[in-house]
Amino acid sequence: MEEYEYIYYTNIVGVTHTNDDGSDRQKIIKKCWVGETLNLIRDYENPYDKNAIKVCRESGEQLGYLNKDVAENFAVAIDIERYKIWVEIKELSKFRNESGKKVRGCCINIMFNLIPIQAPEIEIVCPHCNFKLEKMPARKRKCPNCEKDIYPRIDPKIAWCVLVDEKRANELDHQSRLLRELEFYKKR
Ligand SMILES: [Zn+2]
Repeated sequence: MEEYEYIYYTNIVGVTHTNDDGSDRQKIIKKCWVGETLNLIRDYENPYDKNAIKVCRESGEQLGYLNKDVAENFAVAIDIERYKIWVEIKELSKFRNESGKKVRGCCINIMFNLIPIQAPEIEIVCPHCNFKLEKMPARKRKCPNCEKDIYPRIDPKIAWCVLVDEKRANELDHQSRLLRELEFYKKR
C-alpha cells in the first residue's frame, strides 16, 4: 500500500439493516475479514442525507454507512476529487443492539492523502457580469462594472482563488471548514 498521511478510525453504522437489493448486511459482514479493502461510495440519491456515504466491499456488497457527522467531511473530500482514499477493515466485532440481540459490527480505518495539483490558469472575472478585473481583490468589494458584491475565495477543488457571489462564497467557506477538520487526522 502507498504511504498515507491521514488516518481516521470509525465504526460503520446501519449494519443491521437490509440493503435495497434485499441482501442482509449482517450476512455480508460475516464474510468479511480484518485487513480487507473496502470502498467509500457517495450515495447522492439518499433522501435522508445529502452527504451519505456507503461502505462497500470490492464486490459492491454494502456493509452500511459512514456516520452522519463524519460523512459531511468525507462527502466534500470525495466530491472535490482531490483526495486519494483507502479503506481497510480494522476490527470485526459482535455487540448487542438496542433490543438485546447479538449483532456483528465492523470498524474501519479510512486512510487518505491530499493530491497536489497544478495551479490553473483562471481569468479574474466578475461572477455577475463577466467583467474582467486586472487583479484578484484582497477582500470583498463591488464590481467596478455592475457594482454588485464580489468575493475572492479559495476553491478547494482547484486549490486556487476565484471570484464568486455571496452564496458561492458561503458554500466554499463551508467546504474549506470541513476539509480543515480532516487535517486533525494527520498521522503522527
Ligand atoms: Zn460585475
